[in-house]
Amino acid sequence: MTIAESSTFPLKFELTPSQAARDEAEREVILADPGFGKHFTDHMVKIDWTIEDGWHDAEVIPYGPLMLDPSAAVLHYAQEIFEGLKAYRHADGSIWTFRPGKNAERLQRSARRLALPELATEDFIESLKQLVAVDGSWVPSAPETSLYIRPFMIANESFLGVRPSQRVAYYVIASPAGAYFHGGVAPVSIWLSTEYSRAGRGGTGAAKCGGNYAASLLPQQEAYENGCAQVLFLDGETGRHIDELGGMNIFFVHDGGTKLVTPRLTGTILEGITRDSIIQLAKDRGMTVQERDVTVEEWRQGVADGSITEVFACGTAAVITPISALKSVDGVIGDENAPAGELTMSIRQELTDIQYGRVADRHGWLTRLDA
Ligand SMILES: *Cc1c(COP(=O)(O)O)cnc(C)c1O
Repeated sequence: MTIAESSTFPLKFELTPSQAARDEAEREVILADPGFGKHFTDHMVKIDWTIEDGWHDAEVIPYGPLMLDPSAAVLHYAQEIFEGLKAYRHADGSIWTFRPGKNAERLQRSARRLALPELATEDFIESLKQLVAVDGSWVPSAPETSLYIRPFMIANESFLGVRPSQRVAYYVIASPAGAYFHGGVAPVSIWLSTEYSRAGRGGTGAAKCGGNYAASLLPQQEAYENGCAQVLFLDGETGRHIDELGGMNIFFVHDGGTKLVTPRLTGTILEGITRDSIIQLAKDRGMTVQERDVTVEEWRQGVADGSITEVFACGTAAVITPISALKSVDGVIGDENAPAGELTMSIRQELTDIQYGRVADRHGWLTRLDA
């Protein structure tokens, strides 16, 4: 079913206020130290889809457990996709999000790959506004804090046959997020997985689906055991080219900060919106940007001959994380004690300045959510 076949467009949302909403004092305690993904706001969005009626029954309802039949398709065949974006509070109190149309389009691409129905961009953005309209007070205001918004879609038909589900539900939940780095942005070491890959040719690597994350947990654990914060995956086909981290894209700074290199999108890499934004900001600065194949050998040699001076990872949650070293069974590339790179931090600053409304939004990347 295509988007236009939905029963009503745009969708109209109905609100059922929570009877258990936290009061201001309780909320302030949580917002003082929210952590990440631990606390949730008082409401959530729910929209149902059936093969007969398309998208319907759009609602804002109290946050709470879902009722799923044990035979629901998502529990058996992982027909699930999600998105992640943030709401930022600006100095004047207004609430904004960053390039939500890009998240909407990516959710549509993920939906196509997982044989789920597509949700129109307008309905996606309206679902964010609807949640912020009731739970806007959960958007924290301390520096570098935000409200992390998690839209997701699940197959909830009660049926064990293997085919696309004829019943689907879309939800949006939201969770206040503290500053990702406490006491300043700290570089991390990452672990090169030589045994596992996260995606294969023709697989689901470019879709934001839970299954990709399930497959990354074991190698991620291996990274932890080796003292690393994240795992780096190579492409599954040749095992030579760098794809990305478990949940972040990767960049290399070359030639004294004048060139940025990132693996090209081959279908096995998630098309990060942070990645896309960094490419634009680097071009704005007059830097050369190359999207191409990158090998571990190039990384090793570039560090040795001084042509690669900085490496960083990027994604909505941490924005930009400096990478000091790559560890693997073959040894270490880089210096685990190296400080964060200058260009890395400068791009990070520029991106967060745009997101928090501290500088002009020259690309029109911000969408207001509370008006
Ligand atoms: C979400 C995600 C990213 C980062 O995407 P952003 O849009 O920048 O948040 C990178 N890699 C994977 C595997 C992801 O799931």
